[in-house]
Amino acid sequence: MLTTRLPNRVEPYRLAAHAEHLEGLVALDAFARLAEAVGAQHGEVAVWLDFAIDAQGRRVIQGHLEADLQLPCRRCLSPMAQRVESDFLLGMVSSDALAAELPSTHEPVLVEDEQLNLLTVVEDELILSLPQVVYHDEADCAVSRDQLTSGEGAEASDEPAASPFEVLRRLKGKH
Ligand SMILES: [Zn+2]
Repeated sequence: MLTTRLPNRVEPYRLAAHAEHLEGLVALDAFARLAEAVGAQHGEVAVWLDFAIDAQGRRVIQGHLEADLQLPCRRCLSPMAQRVESDFLLGMVSSDALAAELPSTHEPVLVEDEQLNLLTVVEDELILSLPQVVYHDEADCAVSRDQLTSGEGAEASDEPAASPFEVLRRLKGKH
Protein backbone atom coordinates (compact mmCIF):
# COMPACT_ATOMS: atom_id res chain seq x y z
CA MET A 1 0.00 0.00 0.00
CA LEU A 2 1.25 3.44 -0.87
CA THR A 3 1.62 6.09 1.81
CA THR A 4 3.83 8.69 0.12
CA ARG A 5 2.58 11.71 -1.84
CA LEU A 6 3.32 12.01 -5.51
CA PRO A 7 5.31 15.21 -6.16
CA ASN A 8 3.32 17.90 -8.00
CA ARG A 9 6.06 18.99 -10.36
CA VAL A 10 9.00 17.02 -11.68
CA GLU A 11 11.82 17.34 -14.19
CA PRO A 12 10.82 14.51 -16.51
CA TYR A 13 13.88 14.54 -18.81
CA ARG A 14 16.19 14.09 -15.85
CA LEU A 15 13.96 11.33 -14.44
CA ALA A 16 13.94 9.56 -17.82
CA ALA A 17 17.71 9.81 -18.14
CA HIS A 18 18.07 8.07 -14.78
CA ALA A 19 15.23 5.57 -15.41
CA GLU A 20 13.56 6.71 -12.20
CA HIS A 21 10.47 5.18 -10.63
CA LEU A 22 7.96 7.38 -8.82
CA GLU A 23 4.95 6.25 -6.87
CA GLY A 24 2.55 7.92 -4.52
CA LEU A 25 -0.92 9.16 -3.71
CA VAL A 26 -2.76 12.22 -4.97
CA ALA A 27 -5.83 13.60 -3.18
CA LEU A 28 -8.85 13.38 -5.48
CA ASP A 29 -10.35 16.64 -4.25
CA ALA A 30 -7.49 18.46 -6.02
CA PHE A 31 -9.07 17.63 -9.40
CA ALA A 32 -11.51 20.34 -10.50
CA ARG A 33 -12.08 18.94 -14.01
CA LEU A 34 -12.80 15.47 -12.64
CA ALA A 35 -15.33 16.98 -10.21
CA GLU A 36 -16.95 18.81 -13.11
CA ALA A 37 -17.27 15.57 -15.08
CA VAL A 38 -18.58 13.20 -12.37
CA GLY A 39 -19.13 15.19 -9.16
CA ALA A 40 -16.89 15.88 -6.18
CA GLN A 41 -14.59 13.02 -5.21
CA HIS A 42 -12.95 12.10 -1.91
CA GLY A 43 -10.07 9.82 -1.09
CA GLU A 44 -6.98 9.33 -3.18
CA VAL A 45 -5.66 7.95 -6.42
CA ALA A 46 -2.61 5.68 -6.24
CA VAL A 47 -0.10 6.22 -9.04
CA TRP A 48 3.01 4.32 -10.23
CA LEU A 49 5.25 5.90 -12.87
CA ASP A 50 8.36 4.56 -14.62
CA PHE A 51 10.41 7.12 -16.54
CA ALA A 52 12.66 5.84 -19.30
CA ILE A 53 14.35 6.45 -22.64
CA ASP A 54 13.16 3.72 -25.00
CA ALA A 55 15.07 1.97 -27.81
CA GLN A 56 13.96 4.66 -30.29
CA GLY A 57 15.33 7.38 -28.05
CA ARG A 58 11.89 8.57 -27.00
CA ARG A 59 11.48 9.77 -23.45
CA VAL A 60 8.51 7.91 -22.07
CA ILE A 61 6.51 7.36 -18.91
CA GLN A 62 4.89 3.98 -18.31
CA GLY A 63 2.17 4.44 -15.72
CA HIS A 64 -0.55 2.75 -13.73
CA LEU A 65 -3.26 4.25 -11.55
CA GLU A 66 -5.99 2.98 -9.27
CA ALA A 67 -8.78 4.92 -7.55
CA ASP A 68 -12.11 4.28 -5.88
CA LEU A 69 -14.52 6.85 -7.25
CA GLN A 70 -18.16 7.71 -6.67
CA LEU A 71 -19.72 7.92 -10.12
CA PRO A 72 -23.30 8.94 -10.86
CA CYS A 73 -25.58 6.05 -11.84
CA ARG A 74 -26.88 6.80 -15.34
CA ARG A 75 -30.39 5.75 -14.30
CA CYS A 76 -30.99 7.42 -10.91
CA LEU A 77 -28.01 9.84 -10.88
CA SER A 78 -27.06 9.03 -7.29
CA PRO A 79 -23.37 8.17 -6.75
CA MET A 80 -22.15 4.59 -6.76
CA ALA A 81 -18.74 3.20 -5.81
CA GLN A 82 -16.66 2.31 -8.83
CA ARG A 83 -13.05 1.18 -8.98
CA VAL A 84 -11.09 2.72 -11.82
CA GLU A 85 -7.75 1.33 -12.99
CA SER A 86 -5.66 2.32 -15.95
CA ASP A 87 -2.35 1.49 -17.60
CA PHE A 88 -0.92 4.14 -19.85
CA LEU A 89 2.14 4.97 -21.91
CA LEU A 90 3.09 8.61 -22.34
CA GLY A 91 5.57 10.07 -24.80
CA MET A 92 7.15 13.36 -23.77
CA VAL A 93 7.04 16.08 -26.41
CA SER A 94 8.07 19.71 -26.36
CA SER A 95 5.56 20.88 -28.98
CA ASP A 96 2.24 19.92 -30.54
CA ALA A 97 4.02 19.27 -33.84
CA LEU A 98 6.14 16.59 -32.21
CA ALA A 99 3.06 15.05 -30.61
CA ALA A 100 1.78 14.21 -34.10
CA GLU A 101 4.91 12.13 -34.74
CA LEU A 102 4.31 9.81 -31.78
CA PRO A 103 3.05 6.30 -32.55
CA SER A 104 -0.59 5.68 -31.62
CA THR A 105 0.52 3.51 -28.69
CA HIS A 106 1.76 6.63 -26.92
CA GLU A 107 -0.25 9.51 -25.55
CA PRO A 108 1.61 12.78 -25.90
CA VAL A 109 2.42 14.73 -22.78
CA LEU A 110 3.69 18.27 -23.23
CA VAL A 111 6.86 19.16 -21.34
CA GLU A 112 7.51 22.89 -20.99
CA ASP A 113 10.73 24.37 -19.60
CA GLU A 114 11.81 20.82 -18.74
CA GLN A 115 8.99 20.69 -16.20
CA LEU A 116 5.97 18.46 -15.95
CA ASN A 117 2.95 18.92 -13.71
CA LEU A 118 2.16 15.39 -12.57
CA LEU A 119 -1.19 16.41 -11.09
CA THR A 120 -2.41 17.43 -14.55
CA VAL A 121 -1.10 14.18 -16.04
CA VAL A 122 -2.83 12.06 -13.40
CA GLU A 123 -6.10 13.98 -13.71
CA ASP A 124 -6.05 13.60 -17.52
CA GLU A 125 -5.48 9.85 -17.22
CA LEU A 126 -8.19 9.48 -14.60
CA ILE A 127 -10.72 11.28 -16.80
CA LEU A 128 -9.71 9.17 -19.82
CA SER A 129 -10.17 5.96 -17.83
CA LEU A 130 -13.68 6.76 -16.57
CA PRO A 131 -16.23 4.17 -17.65
CA GLN A 132 -18.68 5.51 -20.26
CA VAL A 133 -21.76 4.53 -18.30
CA VAL A 134 -22.35 3.06 -14.86
CA TYR A 135 -25.59 1.62 -13.50
CA HIS A 136 -26.60 0.31 -10.11
CA ASP A 137 -27.78 -3.28 -10.02
CA GLU A 138 -31.49 -3.10 -10.61
CA ALA A 139 -32.31 -4.05 -7.02
CA ASP A 140 -30.13 -1.24 -5.65
CA CYS A 141 -31.20 1.49 -8.02
CA ALA A 142 -33.58 4.25 -6.99
CA VAL A 143 -35.19 4.11 -10.44
CA SER A 144 -36.71 0.77 -11.35
CA ARG A 145 -36.72 -0.54 -14.87
CA ASP A 146 -40.47 -0.27 -15.46
CA GLN A 147 -40.28 3.44 -14.69
CA LEU A 148 -37.92 3.85 -17.60
CA THR A 149 -39.13 1.77 -20.50
CA SER A 150 -41.92 -0.45 -21.67
CA GLY A 151 -39.95 -3.49 -20.57
CA GLU A 152 -36.85 -4.24 -22.59
CA GLY A 153 -36.13 -7.40 -20.57
CA ALA A 154 -37.41 -10.94 -20.52
CA GLU A 155 -39.65 -10.46 -17.47
CA ALA A 156 -42.14 -8.57 -19.57
CA SER A 157 -42.65 -11.45 -21.99
CA ASP A 158 -45.81 -12.80 -20.26
CA GLU A 159 -47.58 -9.50 -20.60
CA PRO A 160 -48.95 -8.03 -23.78
CA ALA A 161 -46.76 -5.23 -25.06
CA ALA A 162 -47.88 -1.90 -23.67
CA SER A 163 -48.88 0.74 -26.15
CA PRO A 164 -46.73 3.88 -26.28
CA PHE A 165 -49.60 5.83 -24.72
CA GLU A 166 -49.90 3.38 -21.87
CA VAL A 167 -46.17 3.72 -21.20
CA LEU A 168 -46.38 7.50 -21.24
CA ARG A 169 -49.33 7.50 -18.87
CA ARG A 170 -47.49 5.20 -16.47
CA LEU A 171 -44.36 7.37 -16.58
CA LYS A 172 -46.32 10.54 -15.86
CA GLY A 173 -48.08 8.86 -12.97
CA LYS A 174 -44.74 8.30 -11.23
CA HIS A 175 -43.70 11.93 -11.17
ZN1 LIG B 1 -29.15 3.95 -9.81
